[in-house]
Amino acid sequence: MQILIGPFSQIVTLRNLSLKGPLADEALEIIAGGGILMEDGLIKAVGFFEKLSMQFPKAQPDLLDIPAVLLPGFIDCHTHICYGGNRSRDYAMRVAGKPYLEIAKAGGGIWSSVQMTRAASEQELLDSLLQRIKRHADEGVTTMEVKSGYGLNLENELKMLRVIKQASGLTIADLYATCLAAHIKPRDFNGTEKQYLDYIITGLLPAIKQEGLCNRVDIFIEETAFNTSDANAYLSAAKKLGFDITVHADQFTAGGSQIAITCGAVSADHLEASREQEITALAKSDTVAVVLPGASLGLGMHFAPARKLLNAGACLAIASDWNPGSAPQGDLLMQAAVLGAFEKLSTAETFAGLCFRAAHALRLHDRGIIDEGKKAHLQAYPTNDYRDILYHQGKMKPFKVWA
Ligand SMILES: [Zn+2]
Repeated sequence: MQILIGPFSQIVTLRNLSLKGPLADEALEIIAGGGILMEDGLIKAVGFFEKLSMQFPKAQPDLLDIPAVLLPGFIDCHTHICYGGNRSRDYAMRVAGKPYLEIAKAGGGIWSSVQMTRAASEQELLDSLLQRIKRHADEGVTTMEVKSGYGLNLENELKMLRVIKQASGLTIADLYATCLAAHIKPRDFNGTEKQYLDYIITGLLPAIKQEGLCNRVDIFIEETAFNTSDANAYLSAAKKLGFDITVHADQFTAGGSQIAITCGAVSADHLEASREQEITALAKSDTVAVVLPGASLGLGMHFAPARKLLNAGACLAIASDWNPGSAPQGDLLMQAAVLGAFEKLSTAETFAGLCFRAAHALRLHDRGIIDEGKKAHLQAYPTNDYRDILYHQGKMKPFKVWA
């Protein structure tokens, strides 16, 4: 069945924009009085509403009676929204000035989320995951990457990935799972970091393949997690098994992004600690630079150098990093708007980072712009000027989402 939606005060298509480098707002295609013809979940035609309604008289109209601006659905290409419990106690200690090690000693940190996630039943994990997915989808996020990484053994990593797979069938949003078993070495693993990574390669990754649970592998490269040489060997082995690669890179210390580039990772995420040499290398590579302003807000630290990355020519995506520890807020639009204010990003750059450039980080080329043949993942905001959306710094939400 064909459905004609509109008329929209403005459709911001994000068509014909470059995948890398700076974008001026003047380059945005804005269709005033626009409409969209949808069929079987795909966009069939984009144009002036009046014209489309004459061209397709049999299409069922889905009419809007208030001024509205239409954007592609957002793609959040980096989240950890499958987890048990919460870490508000950590947060209270952190804002009160307690150092990381003291918080970890008091039973906080990633390990506490691992314990709470292991203790949760599949049903409990699924219920809380679905609540977070619903909130995100209501706020216009129609594709979400979701990482494992709070199981950290065969049984519990598989449990998380199965829950994520189950959730995909129960939401309008598209979920995209990533295995982050290499988040930290679990405290109950008897061996070195390298031995733990070998255990994932030989035991977990083949099981994931066999069950078809995900095709993307992530690792946290950091002084407190995994070093660059162990990571390099791990990622090469994962790649040989046919997995896409992404990396938690340069969050507190630089080094991870270079491994990401060397291993041909689809994305290098975080980058708060990236220096000129990392920025230049990322810009030259095909690896998407994903910045995570929600983690900067949660940790009270500076933002990643988004402006410099764009100026150097990188493909810049913006994701929420929504997780129970460092980024508990999860409001992607708010975070992107605030990042834009601090880093001086144009509206076009921010929208691109939330849409087609973020889709690229997941190798998804069927979404993120409004164009014929693309998925009809769309969101409408209650205004007649697209600039109002970032101006409200996240308080203006879509009133309607299609997915
Ligand atoms: Zn993360």
